[in-house]
Amino acid sequence: MDYESFFRSKIDGLHKEGRYRVFADLERQAGQFPRATRHTSEGTQDVTVWCSNDYLGMGQHPVVTGAMHEAIERCGAGAGGTRNISGTNHYHVLLENELADLHGKEAALLFTSGYVSNWAALGTIAGMLPGCVVLSDALNHASMIEGIRHSRAEKRIWKHNDIEDLERQLAEIEPGRPKLIAFESVYSMDGDIAPIKEICDIADKYGAMTYLDEVHAVGLYGPRGGGVAEREGLMDRLTVIEGTLGKAFGVMGGYIAASEALCDFVRSYASGFIFTTSLPPTLAAGAQASIAFLKSDGGEQLRQRQRDRVEAVRRSLDRVGIPHLENPSHIVPVMVKDPVKCKMISDILLDTFGIYIQPINYPTVPKGLERLRITPSPLHTDGDIDHLVRSLESLWSQCALARAVA
Ligand SMILES: *Cc1c(COP(=O)(O)O)cnc(C)c1O
Repeated sequence: MDYESFFRSKIDGLHKEGRYRVFADLERQAGQFPRATRHTSEGTQDVTVWCSNDYLGMGQHPVVTGAMHEAIERCGAGAGGTRNISGTNHYHVLLENELADLHGKEAALLFTSGYVSNWAALGTIAGMLPGCVVLSDALNHASMIEGIRHSRAEKRIWKHNDIEDLERQLAEIEPGRPKLIAFESVYSMDGDIAPIKEICDIADKYGAMTYLDEVHAVGLYGPRGGGVAEREGLMDRLTVIEGTLGKAFGVMGGYIAASEALCDFVRSYASGFIFTTSLPPTLAAGAQASIAFLKSDGGEQLRQRQRDRVEAVRRSLDRVGIPHLENPSHIVPVMVKDPVKCKMISDILLDTFGIYIQPINYPTVPKGLERLRITPSPLHTDGDIDHLVRSLESLWSQCALARAVA
C-alpha cells in the first residue's frame, strides 16, 4: 500500500470540505494580554487575541508567573517520575488540597490535562462498576465521549439539557443497576448552562451518580471561582466535579474533586493517572497560586470586570446588527452559518485588522452553525471592542451576511 498517498488523500478531503485546520503561529506577549505577535512567512504582525480560553489573563498574572519562577528555582524543570515512582512533588499535594477546598470535597486528584482527567476518570468509574449505565448529554465534550467509550459501559445519550428526556431514560433502566449522569455546566460552543439542580434532583430520585465537567466555569463563576455549582450552592450534590487548570486558571492540567474513597479508587486503578509522568512542579505551583488568587477579592474583581466586558461586546454587536447567540455565560458566539465565509472572515480579520478569532467549523459545531467564538476578557479595552465591532461590521457588508433584525 502507498501509505503516503493515503494520508494525503485524507487531508485533501478536509480541504474540499472547507474544514482543514490552519494554526495561527502566535507568540504571546507576557504583560500585554490580550496582545500577541503573529509569525507568518512574510514576517511578524501584532494581533489582539479574541478567542483565548485563558479567560481572565491569569496565564500572565504576576502572582502566577512569580510562583512558577520560584518553583523552578526550588525544584527544577520536571517532576522526575510518575506520581507513584518519585514524581509526587509537594506542590502537587498542595494543589490537590487547594482544589478539594475550592469544590468543598474531601479530596481531589490531578491529571496532566482536563482531557486526560475525563478520559481516565469516566473510563475507570464506569468501566469498573459492574453493569454501569452512563447517561451522557448529547453535547458532551470529546474527552467525556472517549472516556465513556473506553469504559465499555452501556451508554445512553439524552437530549441536550433536556431533563424530561433524561428522566424518561433513567426510568427505563433496571433500578438496581449503577448509573452515572455525565454532563457539563457551561457548554463551550453555545455558552448555555445546564439545569444542574434539576439534574441532581432526578439523579437522587433514581439513585444515580453525577459527573459534572466545569471546565469552562472554574475560576469564572461562584464567589470563589468554584464554578456554576458553587454559584448555585450545589457542589455537595455532585458526585464528581471535573475541571481544568488550562483555561481560566491559565496554566495546564486537569483534575477531579470528589469523596476520599472515589479519588483514592481512581488514583489506584486509572491507567491514565498511574502510567504517566506527573505535571512539572512549576505548573502545579502556578495553578495553586492562580486558584488561591481567584478565590480572593482580587479574583472577584476580575470576574466582575469580565462580565462587564462581555456585556459591552454584546451590546456593541447589537448596535450594528451582528447576530450572536444570547446566553447566560461569558461566551459570545457570532453566527456566520457558512464554513467558507466563516474561514474567510476570520482570515481577513487577522490579515487586515490584526484581530484573531479562530473560525469554528464542523465537526466542533454542526454543519450550518459555523461561528466565530468570541471570549472577552477583563483586559480587553473599550478601544479593542470598538475596533472589533467596526471590523466585523465592514466585513458583514462585504460578505453579504444577514444582520439581526433589531
Ligand atoms: C477543553 C475541555 C476539556 C479538556 O481540558 P484540557 O485541560 O484542555 O485538556 C474538557 N472538557 C471540556 C468541556 C473542554 O472544553
